Amino acid sequence: MTNEELMEYAKRVQKNAICQYTNTATGVALLTKSGKVYTGCNIEHSISGLATCAEKVAFAKAISEGESEFEKIAVVGGKRGQEYKSTWIPCMSCIQYMLDFVDDIIVVCYMDSKLVETHLADTMFMKLNVNRKIMMRKHDKDNWSKI
Ligand SMILES: [Zn+2]
Repeated sequence: MTNEELMEYAKRVQKNAICQYTNTATGVALLTKSGKVYTGCNIEHSISGLATCAEKVAFAKAISEGESEFEKIAVVGGKRGQEYKSTWIPCMSCIQYMLDFVDDIIVVCYMDSKLVETHLADTMFMKLNVNRKIMMRKHDKDNWSKI
């Protein structure tokens, strides 16, 4: 299965996201080594601690069906109704969650509108860098264009 095909699964399930609080919809497609695809979307809840990320939904579905070997996961996200080609990588909680079930997995995602693949461990550093940029924006609004 190509990265583009796997991403299409993620985009399709993203439409099912329940995101009335953040208006941010995410979708993932998890490809197992057996060739099956398990999808997930974020499901927000009125009690924020009960909300579920798309990655956790997909892993829970796959594991509950007896899967234990995973090859790739495509992740996509953004504000509902917008073009979903902005940079999007799993949240730190999901990175930690997935690392309990895989030593490594290829993450297929958009970076600056380009479909790329990276390793799960690398997404942790990417996430830290994204968070650093957001913090810089908040503290130095005069320099938005430089970031
Ligand atoms: Zn998450």
